[in-house]
Amino acid sequence: MERLRKAEWIHYANSELDTYIKFVNEQIFPKFVLAKRGYDFSPSRRSSRGGMYADGPGINMAMHHYCKNYTGERLIRVYEYKSFDSSPTIGGFYTKDKYQKLNMVLLHELAHAVQYYAYRINNTRCKPHGPIWKNIYKRLREEFLNPHLGDQVALKAEYDDDVASITKRRKSDIPVATKKELDALFARAASKT
Ligand SMILES: [Zn+2]
Repeated sequence: MERLRKAEWIHYANSELDTYIKFVNEQIFPKFVLAKRGYDFSPSRRSSRGGMYADGPGINMAMHHYCKNYTGERLIRVYEYKSFDSSPTIGGFYTKDKYQKLNMVLLHELAHAVQYYAYRINNTRCKPHGPIWKNIYKRLREEFLNPHLGDQVALKAEYDDDVASITKRRKSDIPVATKKELDALFARAASKT
């Protein structure tokens, strides 16, 4: 990806994160600081991470994965982890907004960073996608992403239509032999007997 477009995505992600962290400071942990923000654009980097780094809580984003194909409006299904993908509050969704997939992963990974901070503050531990993380992620999702998602029923219907019409188009792409071609084939087959 060209430098200018990368810079735009980083700028967008940074300003989103600033807003999210302000909310964390006001509503959850007043002294939480995100010590590391990594943006990795290499195509081989598949998954993002959030957690505790040497300098403190941080995230590292697999940017190529969220930013690569956006040249115009496109309806996509964004997937969360399988075990909670169907949740209406922390699950996957349909969207035409090119930023919402990145928004979701920023919130997901930030929730991990806050989770490790909570472990330290409260001297506790729990599973990576356990109740502590789910609670933080849900609060972030409900504040910053869920209210901005479009009508999920309508978008799903449109998405299913798209899929059906692609399937139909693929079928009709299979070349059908014309009558002339068939006659020629049969004539050839007949002449061999
Ligand atoms: Zn996770």
